Amino acid sequence: MAATFRGTTPEPPDVRPRLTVLSGPSGVGKSTVVAHMRKEHPEVWLSVSATTRRPRPGERHGVHYFFVTDDEMDKLIANGELLEWAEFAGNRYGTPRAAVLERLENGEPVLLEIDLQGARQVRASMSDAQLVFLAPPSWEELVRRLTGRGTEPAEVLERRLATAREELAAAAEFEVTLVNTSVQDVCRQLVALIENCDDRSLNFALPVWKAERGRHSGPPGRRRHHQPADRRAP
Ligand code: 5GP
Repeated sequence: MAATFRGTTPEPPDVRPRLTVLSGPSGVGKSTVVAHMRKEHPEVWLSVSATTRRPRPGERHGVHYFFVTDDEMDKLIANGELLEWAEFAGNRYGTPRAAVLERLENGEPVLLEIDLQGARQVRASMSDAQLVFLAPPSWEELVRRLTGRGTEPAEVLERRLATAREELAAAAEFEVTLVNTSVQDVCRQLVALIENCDDRSLNFALPVWKAERGRHSGPPGRRRHHQPADRRAP
């Protein structure tokens, strides 16, 4: 009689690449993380957003953003060419849909770096997307980073701080929170998440924010805890 192994058959590995969304408050260091990813992990394809914001020194069209006019943005939105879009601090930003879907269909891992409103839209339209929140080590550190940039007028900065406050409160909606203590660590953790592998250091990031926030109030069953194998419930 053939032996049956009820309940012990391992699940087939999920090899389908997921869309990973990195979000978090402005000034937390998302773009630094992304710049590091671009350099150290060229295997991860980074979506290039369209924006009506003017280029900052050193930013290149087609590399950091597609810099578009208001009319061009209107057309992208009207033609349904954006996977998501949002207005942030007086400018519009959006993710070109076709390029993202094409990469995912080709089996390439895709990373979006977008604001919270955009992350919510992606969650609504692509339920298997992995949402990652990048948190600052502390509020004071975030304020220091935001004011230290020195490239924005005072009213823009004020709007950004107000938005950042709201965005920090939204961390509970995300599956995973990574605390940006070092760009190298965050990139390593992000690559581990993108590759769906177990990275013990992810455990160090989560409790900081869970402890401050109390109970997780996000959608049930979506949050991933990244417990290492020896600490998982049997
Ligand atoms: P910045 O002007 O500093 O480059 O970006 C401002 C904010 O816009 C950041 O929080 C950044 O993550 C967000 N952002 C950049 N591209 C997109 C996008 O395509 N969609 C959305 N929703 N937000 C974006």
